[in-house]
Amino acid sequence: MLRPDGSIRHVRARGRVTEFDGDRPVTMLGTVMDITDETLLQQERDRAVVALAASEQRHRLLAENAWDVIWTMGLDGSITYVSPSVQRMRGITPEEAMAQAPQEIHPPESLARVGDYYSRLFQAIAAGTELPTFHGEQEYYRKDGSIMYGELDVVPQVDADGNVVQILGVTRDISERKRLERELNRLAHTDPLTGVWNRRHMEALLAQAIADARATGVTLSALMLDIDRFKQTNDRHGHRAGDEVIVELVRRVSQVLPRSAVLCRWGGEEFVVLCDRCSQAGAVELAEQLRQVVAAEPFEELGAVTVSIGVAQQREGDDVAALIHRADEAMYRAKQAGRNTVVADGGPA
Ligand code: GH3
Ligand code: MG
Ligand code: MG
Repeated sequence: MLRPDGSIRHVRARGRVTEFDGDRPVTMLGTVMDITDETLLQQERDRAVVALAASEQRHRLLAENAWDVIWTMGLDGSITYVSPSVQRMRGITPEEAMAQAPQEIHPPESLARVGDYYSRLFQAIAAGTELPTFHGEQEYYRKDGSIMYGELDVVPQVDADGNVVQILGVTRDISERKRLERELNRLAHTDPLTGVWNRRHMEALLAQAIADARATGVTLSALMLDIDRFKQTNDRHGHRAGDEVIVELVRRVSQVLPRSAVLCRWGGEEFVVLCDRCSQAGAVELAEQLRQVVAAEPFEELGAVTVSIGVAQQREGDDVAALIHRADEAMYRAKQAGRNTVVADGGPA
C-alpha cells in the first residue's frame, strides 16, 4: 500500500462475504494487517541466507583447494569433514580419513598429545571455562605406514552466543622441513670427511658423561689419538692421500670400538675416544687395541701409519677441558717416548 508520504507498507488482507441475499453477496467483512516489519525481517533473513551460502561456498572452495588439510570435528568427536589434500599428504581419500580411528592417524606419542588436548577442550566446554587451542608438531601415519610430520592447529568454533558448534583443525605437512632440520643437525654434529662425530658434539657428550659419572660414581676415561708424523705423509703423498689415511684409520678404529665407546674427529688428524664406564686400565687396554689395529697392516701405497695415544681417567672436579688436557699431555709423552705407543696419565714420561 502506498502512503501519502510515498512510503510502502506491506499488508496481509483477507475478507469474506457475511451476508447474502439469495445468491447475491450483500456484506463483506475483512481485515487488513500491516506486516511491513515482518516482511522486512523476512527479506533480511533471505539476504542473510544468500550471504551465508556464498560465504560457505567461499570457505569450501578454500578448503577444497588448500595445500594444507582442513578438517572439522563434531562435538561427539566424529570427523565431519576432511579436505581433499589429505590424499596428497597421507595417501588416503577424505572418506578413508574420516573413517579412521585416532590410533590409525597418529603414532602413540602424538596420539597422547592430541588426546590430552581434546580432554582439556571438552572439559572446558562442559565447564564453560576458557577454551584452549592447540598448536604443535604432530606425527601422522601415511597409507604405506611411513611417518608424515605435520604442524597442527586446532581451534573450537563458537557461534554468536558463544556455544561451541564444531572443532576446526588445519594440518600442514612439514616433513620436508623436518628432513632439512635433521640433515642440518647431522651436519652440525658430524665430520664431513669421516662421518664420525665432530668436536662440538663430542664436547657435549663428554660433558654429559662427566655429569653422569659424578651422579652415579661410575668413572669414565678419554683417549687422545694423534697420527704420527702426518706432516711427512702429506708432504710425500699429498693432502688427498693424507685424507684417505684419515678415512681408513677411522674405518679400522670403528671396527674394534666397543659399543660403550664413542669416537670423534677432534681436529685435523687428532681423534678423541670417550670410554664410558671405563677405568684407566680398561681404557689403556682399548687404546692398545686401537694402536695395533692401525699399525698392524700397511695403508695401501703409503705403507705403515701409526698413532700415539694418551689415556686419562676422569678425576673429581674434572670438566671436559681438564680431562682432555691430561689425555693430550699423556699423548704428548707418547710422542716423546718414540711414537706408536700408548701412555696413561700419571704413567711414565
Ligand atoms: P707428530 O708425530 O708429532 O704428531 O707429527 P705430525 O707431523 O703428525 O705433527 P702434528 O700432529 O702437529 O701435525 C698435524 C699435521 O697433520 C698438520 C697437517 O699437515 C696435517 N693435517 C691436519 N689435518 C689434516 C687433514 O684434514 N688432512 C690432511 N691430509 N692432513 C691434515
Ligand atoms: Mg696433531
Ligand atoms: Mg700428528
